[in-house]
Amino acid sequence: MSSKDKGWKEIAPAGVTPKSSVGFMTGDWKTYMPVRDLEKCTTCMMCVLYCPEGCIRWRPEMGKIEIDLSFCKGCGICANECPTKAITMKLPEKEE
Ligand code: SF4
Ligand code: SF4
Repeated sequence: MSSKDKGWKEIAPAGVTPKSSVGFMTGDWKTYMPVRDLEKCTTCMMCVLYCPEGCIRWRPEMGKIEIDLSFCKGCGICANECPTKAITMKLPEKEE
């Protein structure tokens, strides 16, 4: 390191945002979206546990599972882990 290079205390911290990242709707990236078949769903919560983005939530006040596509990346983990194959990854239907 030359004497002109910055030391670690002078370099801006990487990966730090000035505000919460909750407002960034990162779900825009996805190609496929999860669609749940309520007839097949047993509310076992496996998809809630496995979703790496935390977009599948158990809503006790409503007594149901809610999928928030605003942050869903379309990875398909939820569909893969669902024991009853209640979740299918589908392309969004195009508007005519
Ligand atoms: S993993 Fe499948 S059966 Fe279990 S709660 Fe999720 S959608 Fe329903
Ligand atoms: S597709 Fe991936 S990110 Fe989207 S709800 Fe399923 S597990 Fe979560």
